[in-house]
Amino acid sequence: MCQNVMDGRYHTVCGHFFAMSTRKQDCLRSDCVFSSRHPPGCKSGACNRLMNPPQRNPIRISETRCEGCVMRGPEGVLGRTHITS
Ligand SMILES: [Zn+2]
Ligand SMILES: [Zn+2]
Ligand SMILES: [Zn+2]
Repeated sequence: MCQNVMDGRYHTVCGHFFAMSTRKQDCLRSDCVFSSRHPPGCKSGACNRLMNPPQRNPIRISETRCEGCVMRGPEGVLGRTHITS
């Protein structure tokens, strides 16, 4: 089955992954509707219509927390803003 492969950056500290580009990995099967080898006019119901879940391909490993986690502060508190007047 075909699947999307996401090239991106992986932050080892917080475990977040950021995709920089996505590419499709073709399974080259003629009975898979996503494949470039699948005949365009094919109406067969037996062909594969499911794609594998996208795969993460870390091309950059960052041993820091990601930007979003840094902005959230050291406790990693989500969505808490302090407004001082
Ligand atoms: Zn395929
Ligand atoms: Zn088909
Ligand atoms: Zn993070």
